[in-house]
Amino acid sequence: MSVRYISTRGGEPLSFSDAVIAGLAVDGGLFVPDSVPDVSAELDDWRGLDYASLAERVMQPYVDVPADVLKDLVSRSYSVFSRDDVVPLVSVGDLSILELFHGPTLAFKDIALQFLGNLFEHLLDVRDARLNILAATSGDTGSAAIYGVRGRSRMRIFVTYPDGRVSPMQELQMTAVDDENVFNLALQGTFDDCQAIVKAVLGDVEFKERFALGSVNSINWARVLAQVVYYFYSAFRVMEQRKAAVVDFCVPTGNFGDVYAGYVAWRMGLPIRKLVVATNENDILARFFAGSDYSRGEVQATISPSMDIQIASNFERYLFDRVGCEPARLSALMNNFASSGVLSAGSLDPAAANDPFCAGSADVTQTLETIRQVHADYGYVLDPHSAVGVHVGQAHRDPDVPMICLATAHPAKFGDAVQRAIGEQVRHPILEALHDVPRRRTVMPASEDAVRQVIFEHAGR
Ligand SMILES: *Cc1c(COP(=O)(O)O)cnc(C)c1O
Repeated sequence: MSVRYISTRGGEPLSFSDAVIAGLAVDGGLFVPDSVPDVSAELDDWRGLDYASLAERVMQPYVDVPADVLKDLVSRSYSVFSRDDVVPLVSVGDLSILELFHGPTLAFKDIALQFLGNLFEHLLDVRDARLNILAATSGDTGSAAIYGVRGRSRMRIFVTYPDGRVSPMQELQMTAVDDENVFNLALQGTFDDCQAIVKAVLGDVEFKERFALGSVNSINWARVLAQVVYYFYSAFRVMEQRKAAVVDFCVPTGNFGDVYAGYVAWRMGLPIRKLVVATNENDILARFFAGSDYSRGEVQATISPSMDIQIASNFERYLFDRVGCEPARLSALMNNFASSGVLSAGSLDPAAANDPFCAGSADVTQTLETIRQVHADYGYVLDPHSAVGVHVGQAHRDPDVPMICLATAHPAKFGDAVQRAIGEQVRHPILEALHDVPRRRTVMPASEDAVRQVIFEHAGR
């Protein structure tokens, strides 16, 4: 029998399909698997597999879709990537850079959202149902989600974003899409306004059910699952190349989804020694892992905007393990944190003896300097998010263990910051081509009523 999913805050376990469609549990908790398969005995058989075949093996125990369906979903999701190996590895000095940005929107979110789009479509076909996705974005998630569901007949997507407050390139990626099922709502407000409106609308259970609303944000378990795969894939290749028995990873972190996937791979038996959490100035997670100081601050704007987050939603999944997987303890902890802004280390169980997490951070100056130095020394251009990871990865490097640094976006997506660092514009043909496509968006007040009205008029039934 395949794994079932329990909410971190309690309640009845659900199947994989139900947990994916629901996204967030009704009690506000996140879904976690009720057991994590140990695949240590499988590792030797898995080493030589291509990306799609490996993805099938890694995901199968977690899903309730038949093997032939999973095979088809995976193969369609990863054939749209521009590289046959999907996630190429590049040596930069003594680091291995894992390029996760060869999907349609040039950020690592494509790896999960291409799969999620195909998975949703399959689940809706089986149920003869429809889904209207409502999302709030400050940039990367919006375009990756749009590319995951554009053109699909059973789904419509409504993406809210703060008008004038996302980068021109990010806005172009979202709005230069001519599919009828995509609705870009440029709200006259901040990202927080967008998020508050989306939360309020999705929190209205009656409205949510009436319009079959769903969500694609990074708390969806299927996104985490799709990301577990590249930890196995890259570790196998680097261990082979460097004749090593263990590897370290360094992960540029915002909502803790990507690095949490690495933690799942470790729990499944992948020999990861260190899992380094790299943050920018928004370093609440780095402070937690460095000394268990977890206190909320103000969000600071940086040149790695997809990591400008104080409250990392997926962190709750890890905390769940640190309170003995007891929903009552977790709820008390989260409620206490919500009111006080501080999480007391005393309320957590000690980390498991070999828990691989450690952490560090890089500020804007260090990030720009890393882009400049890596370009000067190796002729390789990092985007600012990946550069945060490389800065922190260099600091945690041990000469005896290979270090894999995750590169989460193509540098052309963050051309201004890259230009500041190296004095050159980096381009990508996918982004250049967008300039010729007509844009579609609706500018509207940042009001919940206005967003409900759009859904009322345009939701698919
Ligand atoms: C979303 C994002 C991140 C952060 O990933 P999390 O899973 O939220 O920790 C890092 N870099 C880029 C480019 C991103 O888009």
